Amino acid sequence: MKNICVIGTGISGATIANLLSKNFIVEVYDKAKGIGGRSSYRRYLSEIGFDHGLQYISPKTNNFKKFLSVLKIKKIVKKWSGPHKFYNQKIQENKKHLKLIGSKGNNSISKYLLKNLKCYFEYELLKIKRINKKWKLTFSNGEIKLFDGLIITAPYAQTKKLIKKKLPHFFKNKNIKMDANLTVMLVINKNKFNISSYFFDDNILGWAARENSKKRFNYKYDLWTLQSTFKWANKNFSKFKKNKKLYINLFVNRFKKLSKIKINKIYFSNIHGWKYSAYSKSLKVKSYWNKSLKLGICGDWFGGPRFENGWISANDLYKKITN
Ligand SMILES: Cc1cc2nc3c(=O)[nH]c(=O)nc-3n(C[C@H](O)[C@H](O)[C@H](O)COP(=O)(O)OP(=O)(O)OC[C@H]3O[C@@H](n4cnc5c(N)ncnc54)[C@H](O)[C@@H]3O)c2cc1C
Repeated sequence: MKNICVIGTGISGATIANLLSKNFIVEVYDKAKGIGGRSSYRRYLSEIGFDHGLQYISPKTNNFKKFLSVLKIKKIVKKWSGPHKFYNQKIQENKKHLKLIGSKGNNSISKYLLKNLKCYFEYELLKIKRINKKWKLTFSNGEIKLFDGLIITAPYAQTKKLIKKKLPHFFKNKNIKMDANLTVMLVINKNKFNISSYFFDDNILGWAARENSKKRFNYKYDLWTLQSTFKWANKNFSKFKKNKKLYINLFVNRFKKLSKIKINKIYFSNIHGWKYSAYSKSLKVKSYWNKSLKLGICGDWFGGPRFENGWISANDLYKKITN
């Protein structure tokens, strides 16, 4: 195997591409305009923007802690200080956890891992075919590329659609359903409350983060990222696109009520829907590698709903490929 195509620039794709580039020629393709997948950073004005997906990283395993401590020294990640306000009793334990964020946005880690690799954006992989021991890949812009190996790091439903008949047996019959999330981004007047984030105990609004508190920029207004609960987003996901304004207003009113923050003026608002935001369970395996087909799959959904699970899955796949 000489050359490998990696699909996805989230933590799973960036990690596996970075590792494989020690042994192989690697190219990375993503359907999105920018880097990071669900840890991407939505820019508002130059460096000012929103972490509209991944909120923060609380490392649990020793290897991942070690990986992040190196990134901390390199100033790729940093600590996100409080106050973080907890209204939700169920997740009180989160209070104690260290909260790490990307130093310039939560896609800083993907950017760092991919900085020396060839990455192509707005390339959606539509079709895959194995011909003469090569993967023939057809992208949305009509381009066709040939590779010896193929690694897919997309959420489960998107991976399944691509692989179809080649879907590995062990998760063919599994009901891997990822939860949705709706995220509202707001630019509003500054407020006297110097809060970094809120964990709400509410059916609709789960979480709110004040982007200014991450100290990546200074700005005259406050930027807030408001995220729904999974349960509510699963029910409402199909409807929000038809009436974005209504949904934004619903989030704003809920936020005002729960936080008591006074919103005199909204300078900007937008809503983003994550159809496949996270998988709360875990599979028995951490990644998949088919040696004869030279087909690999990794992603957070193998291990659970967190960023760390993507990193673990990619490392597991790398071991399988190189052993
Ligand atoms: C709203 C939200 C909040 C979250 N909060 C937290 C949190 O606080 N803490 C935490 O640990 N985790 C959190 N997560 C989960 C975390 O973001 C994910 O676990 C992690 O980012 C997944 O990384 P990944 O690389 O496995 O997948 P992704 O980041 O989804 O990467 C997959 C990539 O593949 C690309 N792709 C898909 N299909 C194709 C195709 N056909 N062709 C080309 N490219 C394709 C996508 O564009 C994407 O860039 C959150 C997620 C969401 C959505």
